[in-house]
Amino acid sequence: MIQIKNAKELAAMRRACEISAQALKLGGESIEAGITTADIDKIIFNFIKKQGAKPNFKGLYGFPGTACISVNDEVIHGIPSKSKVIRPGDIVSIDTGAALNGFNGDNACTFGCGKLDLEAQRLLDVTRESLHCGIRAAICGGRVGDISNAVQTYVEQNGFSVVRTFVGHGVGKELHEDPEVPNYGPAGRGPRLVAGMTLAIEPMVNQKHYSVSTASDGWTVRTADGGLSAHFEHSIAITAAGPEVLTKAWEGAGWTL
Ligand code: MG
Repeated sequence: MIQIKNAKELAAMRRACEISAQALKLGGESIEAGITTADIDKIIFNFIKKQGAKPNFKGLYGFPGTACISVNDEVIHGIPSKSKVIRPGDIVSIDTGAALNGFNGDNACTFGCGKLDLEAQRLLDVTRESLHCGIRAAICGGRVGDISNAVQTYVEQNGFSVVRTFVGHGVGKELHEDPEVPNYGPAGRGPRLVAGMTLAIEPMVNQKHYSVSTASDGWTVRTADGGLSAHFEHSIAITAAGPEVLTKAWEGAGWTL
C-alpha cells in the first residue's frame, strides 16, 4: 500500500533526507587513491551517528555496512571492505541513508577518483541527468511509468542501458515502501502520482548490456559483461507545486532541477 505523508511527516522526512545527503556528500569527498571502501564506510557511519540519526542500511536484510559501495563493474550492494582499495580512475558508487524520528532518507551518487576516462565520465553524466529527467516527470496526476519512461528514454538515447533487475521504491517510515519505481517501461502506466507520495528514484545504468549477476558473497551485484555501471538516487516528494528533491545536499552548490 502506498503511504501518503502529511505536512508534519514530510517535515520529518526532510531532516532524515538532509542527513542522508550530507553523509553521501562527505563519503564522496573522502574518495582518493589508496582509501579503502571500509574507510569510506566508517566516515559515513561516524557522521550519521554524530547527527543523532541511525544508519538505516546497517543490518537491513543482514547487510553488514552503513553504505553500499560499488566500484567500476559493480552495480549496487557492494560490501565495504578493508581489502578494497580505490585507485585513480575508478568510479565509486555510494548508496547510503539515515533514519531519524521514524523516517528514512535514501540516496546514491557515483563519484570518480581523480580524472576519469571520457567514456566513464560520460556514463556518470548521463546517469545523473537520467535521474533528473525522471524527477522532472514526477508530477501530480501523472503515473509512475512517466518517471520510468523518462529515465529509460534519456539513457538509451545516449547509448547506455538501464538495469531491470533492481528498481526504485517508495520511502518513508520504511526504507523500502510501495510502489516500485522501475527505470524502464512505458509512460502512462502504473500507480497515479499524488501529493504526499515520497519516492526514491534510482537509475542504475550500464555501459554495455543491462544484464547483471550477484556475486558469491550474496550481495555484490555486477554487470554480467564486465562493463562499467553507475547509480544515482534521490528521495523526492510529490507536491502540488512539482517534485521536491529531499536529498539535494550532495548536488553542487546552487543546484536546481
Ligand atoms: Mg534506494
